[in-house]
Amino acid sequence: MQAVQFAGHGGTEVVEYGEVPDPEVGRGEVLVDVKAGALNHLDVWTRRGMPQLDLDMPHVPGSDAAGVVTETGADVTRFEAGDRVAVSAGVFCGDCEFCRDGDYPLCASFHVLGEHVPGVHSEYAAVPEDNLVAVPEGVAWETAAAAPLVFQTAWRMLHTRADVEAGEKVLVLGASGGVGHAAVQIAAHAGTEVYATASSPEKLRYAEEVGADHAIDYTETDFADEIRARTGKRGVDVVVDHVGEATWSDSLRSLAKGGRLVTCGATSGGRPETHVQRLFWNQLSVLGSTMATPGEADDALSLVWDGTFDVQIRDVLPMSETARAHERLENREGFGKVVVIPDSERQW
Ligand SMILES: [Zn+2]
Repeated sequence: MQAVQFAGHGGTEVVEYGEVPDPEVGRGEVLVDVKAGALNHLDVWTRRGMPQLDLDMPHVPGSDAAGVVTETGADVTRFEAGDRVAVSAGVFCGDCEFCRDGDYPLCASFHVLGEHVPGVHSEYAAVPEDNLVAVPEGVAWETAAAAPLVFQTAWRMLHTRADVEAGEKVLVLGASGGVGHAAVQIAAHAGTEVYATASSPEKLRYAEEVGADHAIDYTETDFADEIRARTGKRGVDVVVDHVGEATWSDSLRSLAKGGRLVTCGATSGGRPETHVQRLFWNQLSVLGSTMATPGEADDALSLVWDGTFDVQIRDVLPMSETARAHERLENREGFGKVVVIPDSERQW
């Protein structure tokens, strides 16, 4: 079968599309005929290589995909051939101390499809049954592929980690990105007053369309100053940050006393300076979050499937142009999710 792959880490030039052996379906696995996949910033990090990431090469990337079940392993009970499914990429063991408490994203051996083990950007993918969610008829493949990772991540950040309440003020950074556009919608749906930052009038308009009450162009103004000005110097209760180094101190500066900063990423770098006096004097909390439990994923995705949440698709490309998809993400061209589709699925 054809798959996106790279034989070594590096720039976008390492990304290829070509033959790999057909997947073998394990007892607890489901073979999915992939109709669409979606990129995340994680795909860029995995391509570039990270410390402690030791992959078998060539590596097939991709953490988000959706398609049709064509075959099931002997132990599979929840799915049968013909079912429409989407991939939820977090893999957990089920019996470590954290899993036994239901805290699956804390699993001692937690890993992510496409990041630590082969991913799903291929014509077919063998996926553990626990990593699939049902997709109702009528949901477009692009939507089903693009939603799972970012919507479950943003859901856990806001509801489980930051525990947002209606009436609170929430600032979402980079509101036009994958996690950002999910976070704006989830925060608005939770009844909070949403402040969103983005880098162009078009992206700001989109943030407002999907629920932001206040949109701030961070290229025009210092967002922390702007937050303080717009909240009567009070600040916001929660900041959703996936940017890291470039925004960290301003995120902390945007918080009200007792505020919470919740982070799931560090696309601009991972070693920011922290003003410790601000942390203790204002009694701030810094909360890490990654992926979500299957229950959290179900809660978030049910609101995607029923149309409550909008999944913004910036581009649909054939999988053979995945290198171009990486460029779109790295250059922050456009906004929303980049979807890739196996070349054989369509006339291009
Ligand atoms: Zn575990």
